[in-house]
Amino acid sequence: MINYTERVWQLMSDIVERVPALSDVDVNRVLVFARAGRADTPGPYATCHCVSLPPSEPGYYYWRDRATGALTRRSEWFITRSPVVHVGTGAIDFMVSFTLPRFCDQRRVSARKRARYSEHPTWVAKLDTVVHELYHIDPERPGIRRIERADGTPSTRSHGPSFFEDVAAMVNQYLSSNPDPALLEFLQYDFAGLTARYGGVVGTAFRTFPSYPQRYIEVLTPQPEAPSHDCPVEALKLPRVVTHFTDDDLVTREFFAETSRSQVRKGRSRAA
Ligand SMILES: [Zn+2]
Repeated sequence: MINYTERVWQLMSDIVERVPALSDVDVNRVLVFARAGRADTPGPYATCHCVSLPPSEPGYYYWRDRATGALTRRSEWFITRSPVVHVGTGAIDFMVSFTLPRFCDQRRVSARKRARYSEHPTWVAKLDTVVHELYHIDPERPGIRRIERADGTPSTRSHGPSFFEDVAAMVNQYLSSNPDPALLEFLQYDFAGLTARYGGVVGTAFRTFPSYPQRYIEVLTPQPEAPSHDCPVEALKLPRVVTHFTDDDLVTREFFAETSRSQVRKGRSRAA
C-alpha cells in the first residue's frame, strides 16, 4: 500500500531543499495528515493549519439592548489557544491536511490553473497544491504567511494578487531543478490508479477522525475584574476538547472512494 501523507511529506522535504523561496520552512515542524473528501463533492484539496499561534487577547461575548445600546449580559472572559501537537521528538508548528481521494483525482481544476500549466502534464496541478500549502507557512513568525499589499502594508487576505503566480514560478523552478522522478511518481496517478498500482491508499490521520487539532476556547481563571461591564455574566458552555496531541493520537487510515477506516495504531502498541 502507498502511504500518501508520507509521500507528500517526502516531496515537501525535497521542495524546500530546491526552491530558495521556501528554504526557511522547517519540514520537521510540519505534520502532513489525511482528511476524507470524496472526489465528486466540492471542498478543499488541501489546507494549511497553524498550530503555533500564541493565545489570543482575553475577550468575552456580549449582548446589547437594541434600543439603548447598553450591555445586558456577557459571557465569562476567555482566550483562544492553539492545541499542542508533539510528534516524534519535536513540536509541530504547522499541519497540512490533504483530502483523500479528492486530492488524488482533482476533478475541479480551474481553467486558470490549467492555463498556468498548459506546457505540463495534468498531474502538475497537484504539485501546485503542495507548493501552495508550503507557501502559506510563514517561517518568520507564527501563523499563515501574511500577504503584503503593493505599498508594503499587510493585507487581511492570504492570497494576494501574485500568490498564484509565485506558486507557479516555484513549481517551475522545482521541476527544472532535476528532482528524482521517484519522488513525483505518485502524483501521476488518480485514486483508482494508485489503488491498482499499490493495492491500497493509506495516510496518517488523527485517532479522533474526522476531527483534528484546532484552536479552542479556554475560560480565564481567575476572571479579570471588570467593574465597567457590570451586567449579568453567563458561564460558557464549552465542549470537552483534546488540547494536547502526540504520536499516540495518530493512526494509519485506509482510504476508499467513498469511505475510510482506521487501520492500525501508529503509536506505541498497547496490551490487549
Ligand atoms: Zn491557499
